[in-house]
Amino acid sequence: MGRYLGSSCKHCRREAVKLMLKGIRCETAKCPIEKKQRNLAPGMHSWRRGRVSEYGVRLREKQKVKRYYGLLERQFSKTFHEAERAKGNTGETLLQLLERRFDNVVYKLNFAPSRKAARQLIAHGHMHINGHKVDISDYTTKIGDKITLKGSEKSLKRVKQQLESNPNFTTQSWLQLDREKPEATIVALPCRDDVQIPVEEQLVVEFCSR
Ligand code: SF4
Repeated sequence: MGRYLGSSCKHCRREAVKLMLKGIRCETAKCPIEKKQRNLAPGMHSWRRGRVSEYGVRLREKQKVKRYYGLLERQFSKTFHEAERAKGNTGETLLQLLERRFDNVVYKLNFAPSRKAARQLIAHGHMHINGHKVDISDYTTKIGDKITLKGSEKSLKRVKQQLESNPNFTTQSWLQLDREKPEATIVALPCRDDVQIPVEEQLVVEFCSR
């Protein structure tokens, strides 16, 4: 699977929103979005944002969602077409499918500090679903899936440290976490309110359907 190897902070600066792509660093004062003088669009002439066209507004919304979940264009298009084919509101279905991605679930369970780190845990074969190794980050989880950790002592220790680093962390209502083992179960499907990024999904649909 292809992946983006450039600067993550650049994405936040372009979208002018904290996309929380770097784990713990995002919570500190080192985050460029927190530093007013560096909170500019990336590249030369970054202070010149100019007037944004209707097309530009929609493009930015689509890019924001795509970058938040750490997808490349082809992966995002594939998910959008899946949402289009499904019954119901396309925008909400798209967000739900993205939330149900395995890497997002591992991140939301606080097993990893970022989606990127969650993808690494999965790719290295440390995560199991219903007793079977699943090393595909874009696996769409479903109700009843039981997520367990079957890695080396080292990876188990790292996940436990991550869980202990944030004792006040609470999982979303569609996920049930047992911190001691650690393991988790998907007890419901995510709803619109579970998406933590400010996004107008209708604009994303309009962009992708043009
Ligand atoms: Fe970088 Fe995280 Fe801040 Fe985004 S939120 S700019 S990834 S430190």
